[in-house]
Amino acid sequence: MVLSAEETKMVLSAEEKKKRIISDFKSYGLVHPDLDALYETYLQTECCAVCKKVFETSYERCIDRDHETGLFRQVICRSCARNFVMRTYHSAKSSPKPDVCFQYISK
Ligand SMILES: [Zn+2]
Repeated sequence: MVLSAEETKMVLSAEEKKKRIISDFKSYGLVHPDLDALYETYLQTECCAVCKKVFETSYERCIDRDHETGLFRQVICRSCARNFVMRTYHSAKSSPKPDVCFQYISK
């Protein structure tokens, strides 16, 4: 297959974008056995795993991870990510780790 100059540029920028996002994953301390596969999941997730809001821009996609182990849990929207952080922060001392995420996963 021969790519036109324009197509080559698109492939390269997609590769660049992928590299950048995967390096972001790493900088968040995210743990996943296959970051390439995780990247695909990230791109293909169309709505928040918690509130089901459809992502309109890739900016709204957030990776939810276990804050102790760094393990990936799911792709959620920015406002749910913020709620999780708030809830974790406020209840960390008084109750077991809040985990709406696990409720969702085990359904
Ligand atoms: Zn959400």
